[in-house]
Amino acid sequence: MLDDILDYTQHLRQRPVWQPIPAAIKAGFHTALPHQGTPLSELHTRFINDIMPYAIGNAHPGFMGWVQGGGTPVGMLAEMLAAGLNANVGGREQMPIAVEKQILHWMRELFGFPDTAQGLFVTGTSLANLIAVWIARTKHLGTQVRQDGMGVNKLTAYTSAGAHGCVSQAMDLAGFGSAALRQIPMNAHFQIDLPQLAAAIAADQAAGLQPFLIVGSAGTVDVGAIDDLPALAALAQAHHCWFHIDGAYGALGMLSAKLAPRLAGIERADSIAFDFHKWGQVPYDAGYILVREAADQLATFAAPANYLKRETRGMAAGSPWPCDFGPDLSRGFRALKTWFTLATFGTDKLGHIIDNTCALAQYLQEHIKQQTELQLMAPVNLNIVCFRYRGSGQLTELQVNELNGELIIRLQESGLVAPSSTLINGQLVIRAAFVNHRTNRADVDTLVQTTLKLGRELNL
Ligand SMILES: *Cc1c(COP(=O)(O)O)cnc(C)c1O
Repeated sequence: MLDDILDYTQHLRQRPVWQPIPAAIKAGFHTALPHQGTPLSELHTRFINDIMPYAIGNAHPGFMGWVQGGGTPVGMLAEMLAAGLNANVGGREQMPIAVEKQILHWMRELFGFPDTAQGLFVTGTSLANLIAVWIARTKHLGTQVRQDGMGVNKLTAYTSAGAHGCVSQAMDLAGFGSAALRQIPMNAHFQIDLPQLAAAIAADQAAGLQPFLIVGSAGTVDVGAIDDLPALAALAQAHHCWFHIDGAYGALGMLSAKLAPRLAGIERADSIAFDFHKWGQVPYDAGYILVREAADQLATFAAPANYLKRETRGMAAGSPWPCDFGPDLSRGFRALKTWFTLATFGTDKLGHIIDNTCALAQYLQEHIKQQTELQLMAPVNLNIVCFRYRGSGQLTELQVNELNGELIIRLQESGLVAPSSTLINGQLVIRAAFVNHRTNRADVDTLVQTTLKLGRELNL
């Protein structure tokens, strides 16, 4: 198994990025519960034939869809070790928790957070953002809210219209309702518009509502925009709001000497959500929530239970435990693959990889500017490029949208390169996000050439 998966990783380029899944193969996974066992070798063969070729392909250098990391063999082997230990890192006196604390120390240093900062590995930024909403709620209403619920309090939160959908979902799941999140329009740079934000806060205050949370973006999902973080920090402070930053992929730009200055202000956040599994190249999943004051996180989640009694010696020592800082009790050892990744490569190299993904975006932008058939649809801030195939002048706006929608599917089906789509000012665009360390200029060339070839075919 190890040989096969290492061969797979080594020869990724010879495979399609993605290919449609034959119906017969899917049907092979509609069987009844297996009462009798099957030899491991047979199941291994099924993995090789039926599963491995039909993954989404984010490990492949031609993958440019959404914002997904490529992983590394180092991370994979670390995950194997973690699985072998089968560590349950919810609590108790064990070294895996010390490894997770090591990551916390590194993240405090990276983000300029105080020694009182706390953190927690979670699945991803979606959950990390939800955790931030819960903490902000408890901070605003006090711990009594954990017993009494929200009562008559009407709390409101603020983010950019360009923020990821999971922010709105977090407000929904936390019981505020997504309408309590004011999605403030973006300025010409796709950042949250500050005058409109200030006006929205003032209007809500005047209406007797309680602004409690501002969510800034450090790298928006559509175009990679970074909000004016110092200005948001100041506004949050002035209005006694929690200042959370969704830095799902962008926050780790702090590893790059070039990008770090553009993230200035991130050190003033009350909490930051980000993913090691995107720019950090750690295999899925490895999300993280970093909170400025451990006490706020503890006050939100710690819940005593007889069967989780703490001691000062023995296996039940080491309180507080990770389960006191989030909703999970049992949890895997995500810290190990993250520790191996950061320690093996070093932050300089990881920062260089991040720089390189941004350089690829610039390289693609240059290509697009030189090709009259292609059109750049948003400024290139970081590693994301939004563009479209123009088609001939006779096409209506609707037809250009349809052409590009079909073009993206055909690019994916080509198996050569795999961008995804989004809407920019209502226009459907091809969106290429460079995250994977394996992607190089030749892959960008292939994207441009294949887009032109398939675009011309569709435009006939
Ligand atoms: C990816 C992403 C998310 C969601 O993170 P998950 O790890 O997929 O849960 C949230 N916000 C932004 C900006 C993202 O890029």
